[in-house]
Amino acid sequence: CAKDERRGTYRFFEPGMDSRLTERRQMETDLREAIAEGQFEIYYQPLLDMTKGTISSFEALVRWHHPRRGLIPPADFIGLAEDNGLIVPIGEWVMRQACQDAAKWPDDIGVAVNVSPAQLKRGDLIAMTMNALGAAGLEPHRLELEITEAVLLQDESGVRSTLDGLAALGVRIAMDDFGTGYSSLSYLRSFPFNKIKIDRTFVAELGGASDSLSIVQATIQLSQKLGLQITAEGVESQEQLNILCAEGCSIIQGYHVSRPVPLGEVARLLDHYNSGSGQPRAAVG
Ligand code: C2E
Ligand code: MG
Ligand code: MG
Ligand code: MG
Repeated sequence: CAKDERRGTYRFFEPGMDSRLTERRQMETDLREAIAEGQFEIYYQPLLDMTKGTISSFEALVRWHHPRRGLIPPADFIGLAEDNGLIVPIGEWVMRQACQDAAKWPDDIGVAVNVSPAQLKRGDLIAMTMNALGAAGLEPHRLELEITEAVLLQDESGVRSTLDGLAALGVRIAMDDFGTGYSSLSYLRSFPFNKIKIDRTFVAELGGASDSLSIVQATIQLSQKLGLQITAEGVESQEQLNILCAEGCSIIQGYHVSRPVPLGEVARLLDHYNSGSGQPRAAVG
């Protein structure tokens, strides 16, 4: 490769680069196999409504049981799946499975599904969502789609009509990871959002010396002014929970309530939080 150095060709053969490419290609092959063979599993993390002390919904979070590497978190494969388009079949599987699982839960328990920009930019998300709801027999208002701010910047009019169509179905829409992107606050009003999820980076700094408390307060006030629900994600301590409750954040999600759990453990969580006394209970951990 050295003789092409002047033309810069050698840059493609920097140490480590070819092996990274090989790894990426291998991962892509593995992902296709994972889709064909059903190697994905959804974990569910509860969202606790602090006004009642009960679980109001669960967020569906995908995991990959890799045959050789074990359990792989979404951070390690969603990005690649977005780049190569495989997020579309993966996302469809998650949506259909999450709707089917939620249909077996009590009527007042919802399910939230993350939708990536690549899925939103396709024309068929509304039809796919209708199919998933119909096949499961799930009422649309029990499904919430979580989208990040970044997507709103990309193809505003296409995304807007898709979100309007989803809202017309009766599906709920949440802005995920709020505060980390670049979108204008006016998007919150002009797109059909029902909920804001405060990003966990702000929650993590609550109680410390940072501007996070101000940002959290401003976001909660904004949600109240706009008539949107507000959720804080990544709540890990009682102190964070106390601050959020004092500021008026009514829905809490995080390890302090529960980590994401396999489907089989959803009933145990509902039993712990939602069965009976109506009193908020201690976290199960
Ligand atoms: P997200 O939608 O913001 O989901 C919240 C993430 O924070 C989850 O990570 C969850 O396990 C984690 N988390 C929850 N509570 C706490 C806490 O108290 N402390 C800390 N440190 N973390 C907490 P996870 O499951 O690894 O998912 C990461 C991201 O991957 C998600 O972020 C979402 O953007 C994406 N993702 C997950 N499942 C799907 C999916 O089915 N489709 C798409 N498109 N993206 C997905
Ligand atoms: Mg989410
Ligand atoms: Mg989030
Ligand atoms: Mg997040």
